[in-house]
Amino acid sequence: MPENVDIATRLQEVVLRVRAAEKRFGREPGSVQILPVSKTRPSEDIERVACAGFSAFGESYLQEAQAKITALANTRLTHPDLEWHFIGPIQSNKTQTIANLFHWVHSVDREKIARRLNEQRPENLPPLNICLQVNISGEKSKSGIQPSALFELASSIAELSRLRLRGLMAIPAPSTDFEKQRDAFRAIHEMFDSLNTKLDGSGVVMDTLSMGMSNDLEAAIAEGSTMVRIGTDIFGPRNYPPDTT
Ligand SMILES: *Cc1c(COP(=O)(O)O)cnc(C)c1O
Repeated sequence: MPENVDIATRLQEVVLRVRAAEKRFGREPGSVQILPVSKTRPSEDIERVACAGFSAFGESYLQEAQAKITALANTRLTHPDLEWHFIGPIQSNKTQTIANLFHWVHSVDREKIARRLNEQRPENLPPLNICLQVNISGEKSKSGIQPSALFELASSIAELSRLRLRGLMAIPAPSTDFEKQRDAFRAIHEMFDSLNTKLDGSGVVMDTLSMGMSNDLEAAIAEGSTMVRIGTDIFGPRNYPPDTT
């Protein structure tokens, strides 16, 4: 099967899985957005998925993303307004580029990064949509803010006018046990609800739970995900880890 047919078929299967999970877990039909994660994939693959009606894409490696965003901007007539989501670790010397090129950032976990993104977001663009990455697997991952520090970070971001706080993102420790997967996502959803309650009065109402990937999207949808980030099951297995910059 040619490669383009393969992506179309995979995509269709992911859409069916997401819609089936919505139905099974009593979620509103169409309430879970699929964010195709195109890291390590060439622009041609992104075009195929864009042709199937998807306009938002997740990228993790800035240098690689920048090249693709620029290349695809030249095909605007066929794909108007692609929306780019940065979902990888952020070094502070990269914030300027991110603030210029992206519409969303899912991986904010430090106030310093948030302040830089706020200062560097160009005036002619709408505020940058932000999800805070929460570390729910404790020691296992270095990325993400500790739950105990979440409210402080969220309330300082609520005051930054060039950022718009949309929600939380998390990557639980991988598990093949469905109930364990659900436990982790449920914990994030509870943090989300309690944070929204605490932010009441600040003018911020978060609406996004960015959780679930190829291997745990059903559990994430069962526990209230509004955006699943899907790489492998749409684009196929990634066969190289690029230099991370
Ligand atoms: C790579 C990546 C994904 C997609 O993972 P798959 O298992 O390939 O679906 C989702 N979220 C983040 C933050 C990623 O880096």
